[in-house]
Amino acid sequence: MYLESDSENSRPATPSEEDCCHNACDPCIFDIHKKLLEEYYRRKKQNVKIQNKENLLCPYLYKNFVVTNIKEISDGYILLFLKYQENNSSNNKKILIYPGQHVMLHLNDITKPFTPISFTDDSIEFLIRLYLNGKFSTHLRNITVGHQINVRGPYGDLKYECNSFQKIIMFTMGSGITAVYSLANSIVNNELEETRVHLIGGFQNISQIPLKKELQALTDYWNFKCTLYISQLHSNAYDLHGINIQSGRLSNTSVSEVLKDCIANTTLILICGNHEFNNSVKQWAVSMNCMHIYVFE
Ligand SMILES: Cc1cc2nc3c(=O)[nH]c(=O)nc-3n(C[C@H](O)[C@H](O)[C@H](O)COP(=O)(O)OP(=O)(O)OC[C@H]3O[C@@H](n4cnc5c(N)ncnc54)[C@H](O)[C@@H]3O)c2cc1C
Repeated sequence: MYLESDSENSRPATPSEEDCCHNACDPCIFDIHKKLLEEYYRRKKQNVKIQNKENLLCPYLYKNFVVTNIKEISDGYILLFLKYQENNSSNNKKILIYPGQHVMLHLNDITKPFTPISFTDDSIEFLIRLYLNGKFSTHLRNITVGHQINVRGPYGDLKYECNSFQKIIMFTMGSGITAVYSLANSIVNNELEETRVHLIGGFQNISQIPLKKELQALTDYWNFKCTLYISQLHSNAYDLHGINIQSGRLSNTSVSEVLKDCIANTTLILICGNHEFNNSVKQWAVSMNCMHIYVFE
């Protein structure tokens, strides 16, 4: 194991072979180290003082967290709560994650990316979909409170600035909602924000919708709207106060309908689902002349 360097302006410490889990992670700790080195040399060349970030998390070093709670919240979805395990009182570092950024969770030699839906100074909450034969899902099904999970990160280059767009339209499918939920939450809770948010999610059936209460709470704000497309909706009488429920899948027609009144240069489009979903929605948004499109991958 290598030690994290604490000194200001220091060169990022090189990971050793044993720090890699050999699971072809993307990004691997060596990729991260390479990027940090490039950044370090670029800033050194320009004589920029390199600040030692006060983040408890580190992109190239695993930190030990412990499971404090696991809650089943809808069909196939759990909330996972992790708390930093080591004594942090001496260095006063805090967890810092921008909305939409993800971290890598490492459990039983498997590493997978997950997007926190909220965090405090020393704990993180995740919304996780469990797949029937999924490798990481299987391990998660078998863990209990007290289990250790390693975390490194954060990663992701979406850095949203207050009021930088008039409108943000978020197209998500399934667990992709995690990537945009924290951003929507941070916008509506910021009194200075004048940006309107429309979150459009796709789910197979009603019992799968996670974060129902949380989404409903967001619809109480003047600048948040939510539409959910349910592909297997058996009754049109289903009501989720504040949320517009539509039967069927998100299609080219429905995306065009949402985008037709948007002003291209002041609207940000965020997309998060599987590859097929991302490609289709991106293509539809481009055909509607959208200029600012960000796909979470
Ligand atoms: C940047 C990023 C952030 C992510 N954040 C989250 C998050 O916050 N919450 C979350 O639940 N997941 C998130 N994911 C997905 C997550 O990392 C895992 O890929 C997912 O949990 C499946 O892992 P697994 O090992 O259980 O399944 P695997 O062993 O990888 O897959 C087994 C089977 O499960 C099914 N499956 C797996 N992934 C998908 C999928 N995305 N869509 C449809 N079927 C699938 C397929 O049938 C697949 O064959 C994120 C992915 C990325 C790239």
